[in-house]
Amino acid sequence: MASEAQPIFDALVIGVGPAGLIIAAELCDRGLNVANLAPTAATAPWPNTYGIWVDELGSLNFPEELLEHHWRNCVSYFGTSTTQHQRDYGLFDKAKFQKYLLQRCATATWHQGKAEGIQHLDSHSIVTADSGVTADNGTTISARIVIDASGHFPALSQRPKQANVAYQAAYGVVGKFSKPPVEPGQFVLMDFRAEHLTDAERQQPPTFSYEMDLGNGIHFVEETSLAYAPAIEFDVLKGRMEKRLAARGIEIQEEQHIEHCLFPMNLALPDRGQSLIAFGGASSMVHPASGYMVGAMLRRGPELGAAIAKALQDSDASPQAIARQGWEALWDRDRLRKHYLYLFGLNALMGFEEERLNHHFSTFFSLPQSAWSGFLADTLTTQELVGAMVGMFGKAPNDVRWGLMRSVGGYGDLLWQAVAA
Ligand SMILES: Cc1cc2nc3c(=O)[nH]c(=O)nc-3n(C[C@H](O)[C@H](O)[C@H](O)COP(=O)(O)OP(=O)(O)OC[C@H]3O[C@@H](n4cnc5c(N)ncnc54)[C@H](O)[C@@H]3O)c2cc1C
Repeated sequence: MASEAQPIFDALVIGVGPAGLIIAAELCDRGLNVANLAPTAATAPWPNTYGIWVDELGSLNFPEELLEHHWRNCVSYFGTSTTQHQRDYGLFDKAKFQKYLLQRCATATWHQGKAEGIQHLDSHSIVTADSGVTADNGTTISARIVIDASGHFPALSQRPKQANVAYQAAYGVVGKFSKPPVEPGQFVLMDFRAEHLTDAERQQPPTFSYEMDLGNGIHFVEETSLAYAPAIEFDVLKGRMEKRLAARGIEIQEEQHIEHCLFPMNLALPDRGQSLIAFGGASSMVHPASGYMVGAMLRRGPELGAAIAKALQDSDASPQAIARQGWEALWDRDRLRKHYLYLFGLNALMGFEEERLNHHFSTFFSLPQSAWSGFLADTLTTQELVGAMVGMFGKAPNDVRWGLMRSVGGYGDLLWQAVAA
């Protein structure tokens, strides 16, 4: 238990992934006394590579130097149609991004260990760690509010139990290829062409290739599945990637890095009555229709940071009262509504076979850019989102319309939840 001498921090952040550092930076920026608990050092390299549309970063006033790569030539292939996105895409320089956030966290106190339990008192919460994590080798850290940012399956935050979790899975290779898989300086968001597969394989859930020129003769090619329950296995993705490359007469000559990507897309929202707050994967913030989350964390971090700082101004506020204000900032009614609409979209897509999926995406990316980019970044109002979805329905060919109507039968409850939120 906490000894008398142990301080009570304003906030304790659990985790040092992007979510942990983004929210810790927001809280430190506001002059709060922040502690952090994670099993690794805050400077330990992040394992994943993160991409983002460049204008999203610009609209957030984040320096473009945080990007390691920036592509202007961005395309997708949906069956026989080619889509020029006319929009720039970038990959974060993850070391610079992490350093940038850590600089903003200069006043934070770092503890190394695993959070195992939490107890809420009237004035603060006490988190128990797996071993000695403080200077006096204590195993507890106290704070007025705890923010769980420990990833998609969080250490402390609670959410309803759920069957049929859908995962985005991908198998990728960074390396040298016998000939370039993409044009010089090109980025391919989705290559859904599938002529290299047998008829039987084309009856299976479709997968697409995500490809980029990283410069100096290095490319990244990743066979990706949007979201399926259960997840598509890595061996299947690897086999499909090899077949796709072979059909184009391309061999892998040198594998510099293999990426195994697997994360949940449709996890239930956290329990918003709990006396702590969750952020990032722990708060189900992955965009259910795309899998992207970093932009959302950068956009919503300041709102959450401001709400926590404001709630802490009341020195009598309990963890529950502070958490309530945090949850309201993070998951207000509009966001909840949109979340259920996105989940409806995801469920519809998961039921689409190859041809229908291609028709869907070529129609989606033919919407005005403000509509498709706002949909992907979650920056539309509910009204605008409904407008974009109706516009999509109006433009789509009949097979897509029929698929969407069929989904209303199967997943209409999500539309109802969007109305009732
Ligand atoms: C391979 C891959 C590629 C991805 N690419 C993109 C992309 O391009 N763009 C995008 O927007 N999203 C992407 N995502 C999705 C999402 O953004 C990531 O999953 C992101 O890493 C989630 O961030 P997070 O900080 O919530 O969780 P994590 O990155 O998982 O970090 C969790 C942190 O909590 C710590 N922790 C865990 N348990 C405990 C505990 N008990 N006590 C204390 N600390 C604990 C961990 O050590 C870690 O520091 C990708 C995901 C993967 C897997």
